Amino acid sequence: MPRPIVATIHVAAMQHNLARARACAPGAKAWAVVKANAYGHGLQRALRGFAEADGLALIEFDNAVRLRAMGWTKPILLLEGWFDAADLHAMAEHGLEGAAHCIEQIALLERTPLARPVDVHLKMNTGMNRLGFKPAQFGAAYARLRAIPHVGRITLMTHFANADEAAHECLPIREQIRRFNEGAAGIEAPRSLANSAGVLRMPALRDELVSDWIRPGIMLYGGTPGGASADGYGLRPAMTLESELIGIQDIEAGDFVGYGSRFEADRAMRIGTVACGYADGYPRHAPTGTPVMVDGVRTRTVGRVSMDMMAVDLTGIDTARVGSRVVLWGEGLPIDDVATSAGTIGYELMCAVAQRVQVVEN
Ligand SMILES: *Cc1c(COP(=O)(O)O)cnc(C)c1O
Repeated sequence: MPRPIVATIHVAAMQHNLARARACAPGAKAWAVVKANAYGHGLQRALRGFAEADGLALIEFDNAVRLRAMGWTKPILLLEGWFDAADLHAMAEHGLEGAAHCIEQIALLERTPLARPVDVHLKMNTGMNRLGFKPAQFGAAYARLRAIPHVGRITLMTHFANADEAAHECLPIREQIRRFNEGAAGIEAPRSLANSAGVLRMPALRDELVSDWIRPGIMLYGGTPGGASADGYGLRPAMTLESELIGIQDIEAGDFVGYGSRFEADRAMRIGTVACGYADGYPRHAPTGTPVMVDGVRTRTVGRVSMDMMAVDLTGIDTARVGSRVVLWGEGLPIDDVATSAGTIGYELMCAVAQRVQVVEN
């Protein structure tokens, strides 16, 4: 028998969440972001979950080509663009669009004649300082790109560093929007600005945050980029990671649990051992107290997470027995709650679910 740990992917939740994203941005077209194996949910399932999207956006060339082979005929966008001439030829061959964020990419495109034109997303650095042209260089980069005969449609894009915080003290979203508008002034082209955090802010920034295309990722999977809870945004979890109790220990006050004896009982307790550990993708740095559900009751982890197992507090869960269902995150237990307790974000947890975890869908 396989170990009882299973990740269930809820394709209907993905469809629902995409509709939520669209509702925040009426009239905008939507790229569903499916990088990192659709944030751990699988490309096949993303194809069905996001069948209604206007395009799929990702980083990995091999997966972009795979999406075409799987029958996706709508646009595909490579968010980091091309890395070499072979990528450009693959883009032309498979009809892939790509971001251009640096002058080296444009120079390579100039000296790589293509059989068919490629659509390009010119990226502006509006303060994140990761990728993109500075606002003052943007017009020149656009003109140089526009002059290349094998460039088709050009879209203008930027990425927000702090869209999840209303008025970030270092770099408010409004300041990034202002820089974008300044750098893009006078260029007639579609615009692509909002990740999930931006999409969720769109209703509040209706007049300022104007985006022909949105690029939601995390919200499509039922996680949030910060701010309100997923439930508060009307999002549904797209992944439930669950396992079972495979052992139960009755311990006394003064007994310890797990490697390093990091948890000491201050009273007699029942401890459950769950078949889930860091080799399954559960964060090892999750401290005692990280939320977990046993038999539908919210409780806490105790002691260190080990490679294949972890311990949970069964106090007050009288139904618990070997074989009881344990939800690590997902339906009934927001992934963001677990991530916050573990000092990380839902994105990292989703992406880290290990190969050995069986994936099913409902
Ligand atoms: C990953 C990514 C997104 C999606 O971000 P979320 O925070 O998951 O919504 C959008 N745009 C770009 C350029 C990205 O790299």
